[in-house]
Amino acid sequence: MQNSVVTRFAPSPTGFLHIGGARTAMFNWLYARRHKGKMLLRIEDTDRNRSTDEAVAAILDGLSWMGIEWEDEPISQFSRIKQHQQIAHELVERGEAYYCFATPEELAEMRELARAEGRTPKYDGRWRDRDPSEAPEGAKGVIRIKAPQDGETIVDDQVQGKVVFPNKDLDDFVILRSDGTPTYMLAVVVDDHDMGVTHIIRGDDHLTNAARQILIYNAMDWDVPVMAHIPLIHGADGAKLSKRHGALGADAYRDMGFLPEALRNYLVRLGWAHGDDEIMSTEQMTEWFGFDGMSKGAARFDLAKLQALNGHYIRNADDAYLVSRMIDVLPQRENGNEIKSQIESGLEKQLIAAMPGIKERAKTVNDLIDGADFLFVQRPLPIDEKASKILEDGSEQIARLLPALSDLPDWTAANIEEATRNFATEADIKLGKIAQPLRAALTGKTVSPPIFDVMEILGREEAMARLNDQCH
Ligand code: GLU
Repeated sequence: MQNSVVTRFAPSPTGFLHIGGARTAMFNWLYARRHKGKMLLRIEDTDRNRSTDEAVAAILDGLSWMGIEWEDEPISQFSRIKQHQQIAHELVERGEAYYCFATPEELAEMRELARAEGRTPKYDGRWRDRDPSEAPEGAKGVIRIKAPQDGETIVDDQVQGKVVFPNKDLDDFVILRSDGTPTYMLAVVVDDHDMGVTHIIRGDDHLTNAARQILIYNAMDWDVPVMAHIPLIHGADGAKLSKRHGALGADAYRDMGFLPEALRNYLVRLGWAHGDDEIMSTEQMTEWFGFDGMSKGAARFDLAKLQALNGHYIRNADDAYLVSRMIDVLPQRENGNEIKSQIESGLEKQLIAAMPGIKERAKTVNDLIDGADFLFVQRPLPIDEKASKILEDGSEQIARLLPALSDLPDWTAANIEEATRNFATEADIKLGKIAQPLRAALTGKTVSPPIFDVMEILGREEAMARLNDQCH
């Protein structure tokens, strides 16, 4: 029977879940789902100075918001230090690793010499064949892997193909420091092995590490997991992704008003493709995701494309769901908490009713909030400059229309529209000549959802009051 697929996402908790990490997590998640396996989460918190609990919380929150699920409890790499130490010692017993007592001065000399000779600095193996009994009194020493000196190590990568590393370039790197702490290289291998990881999917900045890690697997006679090193994400200008390009945390994308499903759809297409398909549901991604559609070159992050995709998802989303996304974003906005409590204490129904008109033009949840502004503002309405201009002449037309509106038996968009059209015909003016002043008076702006819908949603009393406000 084939082993079932186990993938893992292994973030270092030194910051938020940035967009590159979110994509790596997604690929691991999709691959595991596609093969009915599981994705595990390992927090690589061995760097005690840089790892923080806040960062762990931010990463877990970011993943949850993105809808990426892992199985079992997250594993702390730091908590596994005993296992790492034990394997380091076992490697020494197997003759695959050795104690090295080279002093910092000696190591500095080695580096100097290499530089002078124009070589890449490399440990020269001076303790490789010496006995630890030769160690200077009281010296603690590090443990180094005994890397093969000839031949080559091949990373048989699912994305990059067979990548060959001549062993002479892979030096006897440290696996356990003199203070007994494991290096990243050792900890990753021991953890992946113990967690039963079958597939390692991560950024291609780890490709050289992969060759070194394979040396450890071989030295322990462990099976090397399948590896897939995915291209990094670059900015639209081709440079490595930085904050300036959008290398922000998942929470920043939430606050910018992106829907998690849109972000997922956008990210899955960064470095992977399924034919020409642009829009895919999570089910489709799960069905289609694999290494075959992966590109080797760096992917480019394009905010405008993400916004366009987000707009598509917003237009197709359920209206009540969009209200809940607005509530997520509001606390981070100026005056957002006030609006949030307005929604929660009665405006929700009106907001849902207004949503079809609002979402047509929106690219982000923030656009929805702006579009719904006419519901949140209080009388007397603030009127912007353009709207004031329109009202200079237009308020007179409004005053003439008011009696027809107050006579309406039912306050529906259709009735309001009919009355307004009749009025325009009788007054011999274009519909816009009355509709624009209505918009200005009812919303304080010159852009809004369809104005007769706005009037129905506001209700007779509020709409008439706002119109009257402009007629004195
Ligand atoms: N902790 C590493 C990182 O955040 C990932 C290590 C790995 O995936 O093997 O880059």
